[in-house]
Amino acid sequence: MGLLEQKAAAVVEALSRVELLAPSAVAARARDVWAQCFTLERLALKRAVLRSAISKLEANWCPRNAERCQDSHHASAFVAWELLVDWGRLEDEERWENLDFLQYVLQDSRALDSEHVEQVLGAANCVTWWSEMIGGWVRDPLLERFRAVRSNYVDVAYRSLFE
Ligand SMILES: [Zn+2]
Repeated sequence: MGLLEQKAAAVVEALSRVELLAPSAVAARARDVWAQCFTLERLALKRAVLRSAISKLEANWCPRNAERCQDSHHASAFVAWELLVDWGRLEDEERWENLDFLQYVLQDSRALDSEHVEQVLGAANCVTWWSEMIGGWVRDPLLERFRAVRSNYVDVAYRSLFE
């Protein structure tokens, strides 16, 4: 049994005790935490692949004047970054049409090694949760949601001690 499965099993077991013993409001918030853990766990690998691709591409943007830049690798890094950020919002057909182009700009950017390019292209086939995984420059929606549901749970569990 892998570490992730062990942790998941421990959470399920803990949750079953909460369901049995805790007030229903606490149990409901605990179920939210569990659901959010499950989502994060399911998406963890793909999320790591995409977020590191995004930051490597950003690191390969033109360090000088992008408007006058003649370096195709810098331009490709920017175009690939832009495509990845918007990928989840494209129509299926547009994604299909752009897949070869995505591969080209990822390779031409020289920001990612070939294995990483393959992983990104593999991830690009399924866009469920895409925007949440990508987040933004500073935002990380999945983790923010996790912190929110966790603090709801902690609040309600804490208050239940004094009721
Ligand atoms: Zn440049």
